[in-house]
Amino acid sequence: MMYRIRSPGRADQRDIPVTRMQWRRLLSYLRAYKLRLLLAAIGLILASALSLVFPAVIQRVIDSVFIDADTALLDAITLALLAVFVLRSLASFLQNYNLNYVGERIVVDMRCELYAHLQTLSIRYYADRRVGELISRISSDVTVVRTVLTGSVSTFLQQSLTLIGAIAIMFYLNWRLTMFIIVLMPIIVGVAFVLGGAIRRTSTKVQDEIAGATVVAEEVFQNIREVKSFVRESYEIGRYNQAIDIAFRAAVRLLTVRSVFGPIIGFFAFAGLAMMLWFGGREVLDGRLSAGELISFLIYGMTVAASFAGVISVYSQFQEALGATKRVFEILDTQPDVRDAPDAVQAAAVDGAISLRDLSFAYDDDQEVLRHIDLDIAAGEIIALVGPSGAGKTTLFNLIPRFYDPDAGCILIDGRDVRAITQSSLRQHIGIVPQETLLFGGSIRENILYGKLDADESEMIAAAQSANAHDFIMELPKGYDTIVGERGIKLSGGQRQRVAIARALLKDPSILLLDEATSSLDNESEQLVQEALERLMRNRTTLIIAHRLSTVRIAHRIVVLDRGRIVELGRHDELMAQDGLYAKLYAMQFRADDWVLSGYH
Ligand code: ADP
Repeated sequence: MMYRIRSPGRADQRDIPVTRMQWRRLLSYLRAYKLRLLLAAIGLILASALSLVFPAVIQRVIDSVFIDADTALLDAITLALLAVFVLRSLASFLQNYNLNYVGERIVVDMRCELYAHLQTLSIRYYADRRVGELISRISSDVTVVRTVLTGSVSTFLQQSLTLIGAIAIMFYLNWRLTMFIIVLMPIIVGVAFVLGGAIRRTSTKVQDEIAGATVVAEEVFQNIREVKSFVRESYEIGRYNQAIDIAFRAAVRLLTVRSVFGPIIGFFAFAGLAMMLWFGGREVLDGRLSAGELISFLIYGMTVAASFAGVISVYSQFQEALGATKRVFEILDTQPDVRDAPDAVQAAAVDGAISLRDLSFAYDDDQEVLRHIDLDIAAGEIIALVGPSGAGKTTLFNLIPRFYDPDAGCILIDGRDVRAITQSSLRQHIGIVPQETLLFGGSIRENILYGKLDADESEMIAAAQSANAHDFIMELPKGYDTIVGERGIKLSGGQRQRVAIARALLKDPSILLLDEATSSLDNESEQLVQEALERLMRNRTTLIIAHRLSTVRIAHRIVVLDRGRIVELGRHDELMAQDGLYAKLYAMQFRADDWVLSGYH
């Protein structure tokens, strides 16, 4: 049986070339921390230099102490060596502390910048992306960027310094042997490079496969209700097992590659040492090198090899990490498609008259969702929007607060184009109560105060009372301080709506966009919500996507939308008399509620 395994799609994000400009930009994050970086650099240079002392000391011990049997010199050398290592540790501390400090600062700077920038991006941006992806950019990608800037750069510098220092010392000790090694080195390095690349590619593949299995599990945990209600547990187990099996096979490939290549690389490295010993031994026998020098030479040789391996591995880490950097910059470079005009003004007070003038809009180029909408709404008027699903009602709602901008035509509020007003002051005057209210995870108080952060207790309670929410809140164990749970799941649908209404009341906007819930509430909640909504609508220009008969009845006018056009406009009785789309919708949609609401109206 075949199961669908979704690839996590990471492959395309690797190996993206990073331009010099991006490098410069990345380094610009370091600019604010020059002093700390200078300290780190001093520490780094000192630590690298001091670690090169050891082989030289060994040479002295062999050549002078042993040959002259000089115990006093041995004591002195040991003490000096201890002092050198103390110094080296201090230098190392100086480097690590300052560099990592800068790293953490950069994470903070970059995360704040990214988060602030993400807040400016428009709804369209979010509609096109998965939340998980954005979260991983602010969390893991930023961390990876730090790794490049601090960890990798410092390892790279340190290893390169050690490498250059060791080679210089080796030249000084015996240039012939050094030349011999330099000829040998490309062979060993070449082998290591080719095999190392193969290991890295296989290892990334394994990680991708494991991520693929994780995606399968994640999907199931998120949709566990569907899995259980369709009794698809064993199907899902099969799907997961298959994904894991693919990961296992990739892991076996990796371990095969590692088990074969590791010893090969090891062989070449030790063969290199043997060759050094062979050539160096001859130099000693010919009197061009002392025994101590040969031993220190061998140690330098190993240092050089290790440093080289270090530089290579850091280089490949770089390549991967730069992909993350690029992703971060991509977000930072995204311009919001809805922007304030340079001369946008603050709208201080708004009466709430709305005019839609020849408004057309498409989410994607090919399909117009709204076509030539013309409508004048007086301040304080209540307009019910009805129409079949997909007619464009929600889209119209999206255009008024400028979540999207129209492709043609305009929206005027009190006669002024909404694009001439700053988005923040425009939205300050618009209250939105969505169909399904999602609350923040904190307390009820926090959720209501979201409408007006500086409201005092009495204002908040008054709003909750008008929203018919105060009584149920007071019955909760902790009253206003009750935690509502993630997205408000601990409250019933009707309760959540009333909290949302209280929040909107506190905001006190001149214009209200209401998307009525389609799902029926029980009779009592229905009445409480309806009453609260009516209070909320009082003295505000209101557009309601209506699903209830009671709502269309209180509306001053009803706008019937169909496939992006206004097809009918008028009062309930007028539209019923026309016997057109409204009458049809009424027969299908509203009459069913009649019995629910008959006691109320
Ligand atoms: P209604 O609220 O009347 O049910 P909508 O305004 O939600 O209708 O949708 C109108 C049309 O626009 C539908 O065909 C829908 O598929 C499309 N649509 C809605 N939102 C988006 C979006 N974010 N991207 C692309 N198309 C969309």
